[in-house]
Amino acid sequence: MQNYELVIIGGGPGGLTAGIYAARARLRTVLLEKGLAGGQVALTNLIENYPGFPDGVAGMELGRLMEQQARNLDLEIVNEEALKVELHGADRLVQTADNEYLAEALIIATGAQHTRLGLPSEEALTGRGVSYCAVCDGAFFRGREVAVVGGGDSAIDEGLFLTRFAHKVTIIHRRDALRATKILQERAFANPKMAFIWSHVVDQIVGTDRLEKVVLRHVRTGEKQDLVVDGLFIYIGLKPNTEFLRGTLNLDPQGYIVTNEKMETEIPGLYAVGDVRLGSLRQAVIAAGEGAAAALMAEKYLAERHRR
Ligand code: NAP
Repeated sequence: MQNYELVIIGGGPGGLTAGIYAARARLRTVLLEKGLAGGQVALTNLIENYPGFPDGVAGMELGRLMEQQARNLDLEIVNEEALKVELHGADRLVQTADNEYLAEALIIATGAQHTRLGLPSEEALTGRGVSYCAVCDGAFFRGREVAVVGGGDSAIDEGLFLTRFAHKVTIIHRRDALRATKILQERAFANPKMAFIWSHVVDQIVGTDRLEKVVLRHVRTGEKQDLVVDGLFIYIGLKPNTEFLRGTLNLDPQGYIVTNEKMETEIPGLYAVGDVRLGSLRQAVIAAGEGAAAALMAEKYLAERHRR
């Protein structure tokens, strides 16, 4: 078992910013990240609303820069997935497949993942035409026709990105108005490669080895229509990554972690930041700010604990 003052779970903007603050405070800290530094940011084509990058920055690059900054300050980053967190007296025990980390303070920054539609062939056809990541899979659809499900920022942002490759991108939305930020709507409506099917949901995803078509259903009339596409990108919202915490701390019915405005959970020395936190505004810059706040609170908590 390895002992740390602070363990941070998650290497997106929230976790890495917490790590940068903790490293500068010289707290004995380890950050656990199961995948790519940057988290969801790394899967985003271009980030235009993170201050300091006047021309925007590629998500992958922003993730890399944050990680580099943390490493330059001597933050220890380990590529492992937290599988379980247990309360261990006044400490917290984090288990991964290979190790156990005992922490005086813990910051959870595990973010969220894209929600599934929950349709029968969705899983079988994922990677065979169905995708949740335009940045990862968009280039496979050069000259093809794709559809995007959803009307939020992710659907429109990623739909616009897909127009670089696909010759037509159809947005399928369940209402007759988008929820995405106005600037994205303006770009989408002005893009000749974008088409819109309003007031429809995906009823079936059809294909054997590969996606062949989707069957759409009108939300009011129930009338069905086929849409033949080579790719289907699903952006219908986010689900918090908190499975490994069930039974450990207070989660809301959707699985988000409940905190106060100081990022404190009901357990002393345990904080949550970013998309995993109930009420967070799901922006990279906000996750970063929350990460900074949690690290400052953890530093204070540890100083008080060591004084006792
Ligand atoms: P979101 O804002 O929750 O939007 C989800 C969309 O999917 C909505 O349009 C929703 O329809 C639709 N939807 C939900 N369930 C559905 C279902 N079962 N079938 C069909 N459609 C369904 O999710 P998001 O776009 O992934 O964004 C998540 C958060 O990240 C947001 O806070 C967003 O602002 C942020 N984000 C920001 C940026 C940026 O700043 N550039 C980029 C990406 C994401 P309704 O509209 O009818 O509810």
